[in-house]
Amino acid sequence: QRKPLVVANWKMNGNSELVQQMSEALSVLKQPLPDILICPPVIFLADFPKHPNYKLGAQNLSEQLVGAFTGEISADMLCASGASSVIVGHSERRALYGEQDSVISQKVKVAIEAGLTPILCVGETLAQREEEKTLQVLARQLDAVYAAQPHLLAHSVVSYEPVWAIGTGRTATPEQAQQVHQFMRQHLAQYDAEAANELRIIYGGSVTAANCEALFAEADIDGALIGGASLKVADFSAICTMA
Ligand code: 13P
Repeated sequence: QRKPLVVANWKMNGNSELVQQMSEALSVLKQPLPDILICPPVIFLADFPKHPNYKLGAQNLSEQLVGAFTGEISADMLCASGASSVIVGHSERRALYGEQDSVISQKVKVAIEAGLTPILCVGETLAQREEEKTLQVLARQLDAVYAAQPHLLAHSVVSYEPVWAIGTGRTATPEQAQQVHQFMRQHLAQYDAEAANELRIIYGGSVTAANCEALFAEADIDGALIGGASLKVADFSAICTMA
């Protein structure tokens, strides 16, 4: 009943040629398709032709609404640029730019209030997994956003991105990912059982055209958030047709 969602996170990659090639390739895919969301660097949003086969998103937003915040981009600006969604709390933002749970929580709220769907990224590091703290870490990351504002759950997407699987070629096994997704759905049910049941929980971390089908076959994996493979037109198109 949950419609699959495939998200491309280009990170700080891509150019106008890739925009053109990707939009052309996605435009000729035949329905039925999953929801397809492309998150290029925001400077390219306006270059994408509009097409019913895909939507556009951003990779980050400001937690502020407007004002003297040099270098930042607001939720309203993203909407005006054609974005319908925004990735929030990616592990690279957490690790490299010091984003804490509190600011991530604020970003999710600001996004939803502007009409954007936040794709909240959560995930444990290798050290945390080895210390068997995975579920504890995920519960904390989810609670930081939803405990005080459970009404946001119905408007969100959650992405499980184990940090050790990002860009490493080391994908979580379908069983590992399913176990975590199921845990998160059950955990979130305490806030809103119906919203948790309808919530799309997607997996990210070294997803390729070769390993995606086994992931998509799991009951609680509703799609994927794709980095490296989303820069390859043929691979990304193939992943979309398998979701
Ligand atoms: P890779 O697919 O390159 O591992 O990146 C995953 C990711 O971080 C998507 O947000």
